[in-house]
Amino acid sequence: MDLIPATAAPRVPVVDRAGRARGEFPVHRIYCVGRNFAEHAREMGAAAPSSKAERGVPTFFMKPADAIVIDGVVPYPRATQLLHHEVELVVALGRDAPAGGIAAEDASALIFGYGVGLDLTRRDLQNAAKAKGLPWDTGKGFDHSAPLSALLPASEAGDLSTAGIALDVNGERRQQSSLDHMLWNVADILHELSKLYALRAGDLIFMGTPSGVGPLLPGDHFRACIDGLPELQGSITATR
Ligand code: MN
Repeated sequence: MDLIPATAAPRVPVVDRAGRARGEFPVHRIYCVGRNFAEHAREMGAAAPSSKAERGVPTFFMKPADAIVIDGVVPYPRATQLLHHEVELVVALGRDAPAGGIAAEDASALIFGYGVGLDLTRRDLQNAAKAKGLPWDTGKGFDHSAPLSALLPASEAGDLSTAGIALDVNGERRQQSSLDHMLWNVADILHELSKLYALRAGDLIFMGTPSGVGPLLPGDHFRACIDGLPELQGSITATR
């Protein structure tokens, strides 16, 4: 018997290529990759590897599962003066990884589908934490910090390895790149994550953002696209 009201798992709509509803994807955890595009690492003032050979180990952080926003309505978060957009490929897992982790060459078997999301960031809080060598949680893992498109099953998405990724704000292009610029591809990231965590069906992975991150303000409209995937549209509303 629950002694308090239970919180339902957030659910993301799943569509086919024609946009027809196919059901829902219940979310378990949200993992995020930091500094996965060299040009974004550099714009953040971090040392960026110039080649995959120099990439070291990936940077990971998490958001709470209920940070997901599926209707595009994002209230401007409290406690910040600098909300930033980061457009990212989102990978949805449909199977648990085996005990002991998964090799990169086997990782595609875990993937349920893909979407496009925003890793919304309270950049002022993140920068203050970085300056003190403290964790990024308050800058990254806040309410409504993960707006996400509908998911497209992997079987219908085809090869995304060179797909274009872009973000427009109020009709103006802010971010644009190609997924082949990621320092760590999806298979590599699933392998690395599986060394650290028990990956489960229901997990989402935000794969990191290209350069061009910048501020969002109340009233702004955003449109995020990855070639071949459902798009994400929404807007920032007044602080709740
Ligand atoms: Mn990010």
